[in-house]
Amino acid sequence: MLFDHRIEVKTPEQVRSMRAAGLVVGRTLARLRDAVQPGVSTADLDALAEASIREQGGVPSFLGYGVPPFPASICASVNDEVVHGIPGPRVLQEGDIISIDCGAIVADEDGTGWHGDAAITVAVGDVPEDVRRLMQVTEDALWRGLAAARVGGRVGDISHAVESFVRAAGDFGIVEGYTGHGIGTSMHMEPDVPNEGRRGRGPRLKRGMALAVEPMVTLGTADTVVADDEWTVISADRSWAAHYEHTFALTDAGVWVLTAEDGGQARLEELGAPYGAI
Ligand code: MG
Ligand code: MG
Repeated sequence: MLFDHRIEVKTPEQVRSMRAAGLVVGRTLARLRDAVQPGVSTADLDALAEASIREQGGVPSFLGYGVPPFPASICASVNDEVVHGIPGPRVLQEGDIISIDCGAIVADEDGTGWHGDAAITVAVGDVPEDVRRLMQVTEDALWRGLAAARVGGRVGDISHAVESFVRAAGDFGIVEGYTGHGIGTSMHMEPDVPNEGRRGRGPRLKRGMALAVEPMVTLGTADTVVADDEWTVISADRSWAAHYEHTFALTDAGVWVLTAEDGGQARLEELGAPYGAI
């Protein structure tokens, strides 16, 4: 494997292997979005996710991850839970929102496992206008970040695009202490991809690098606390939070959003960014 300043650099063939993993995640999240409704438990969603990942030839990367070992295939974070919620008996109610984070590993012909990582926030039935807007702002900020990535640019260009979009949208909290990340043969690799930063700063972006961008935004504070389960991250003021994430790779053509079913083509073209499928 080639590295540039500790950042993994993939060949075009390896990027295509990552696309396979990204599609497993993207399709699984599409199924989960359709399954979200009042009366469904977060454990139900987890079971659906694990079956979807395995049926497509993947392995859930979250299962057994970290310390204490994460016990499920998705993170399911409801309302004031920001990220890393553990699926369980909680039943979704009309008016809730749920952030679902999903990761999968797919092996290439040589047996090397490639990771995909993405997240969506879904409304359970009707939610108040401010919550709907929180979700829209967070998702749009993700796409601004993705569209800011260029070969020869810097990680800070992505961070700045995310931050400036959220700040201009209103009085939201950009969650501190959690960032996007490099991804490839592991889920979490160099470099960090912060949701705040300055243009032109940070590691240089090169062809073959793959990153996960994941804004986490609240209706209140940027501060969080971790629950007694040692995983669930909750906003410190109990304000509701949204989380969207995609994994992308930089190619000679541009930005290829590996976990988006259309590769990101529609949103990138809308934002005037080069679409990088190879
Ligand atoms: Mg994730
Ligand atoms: Mg991630």
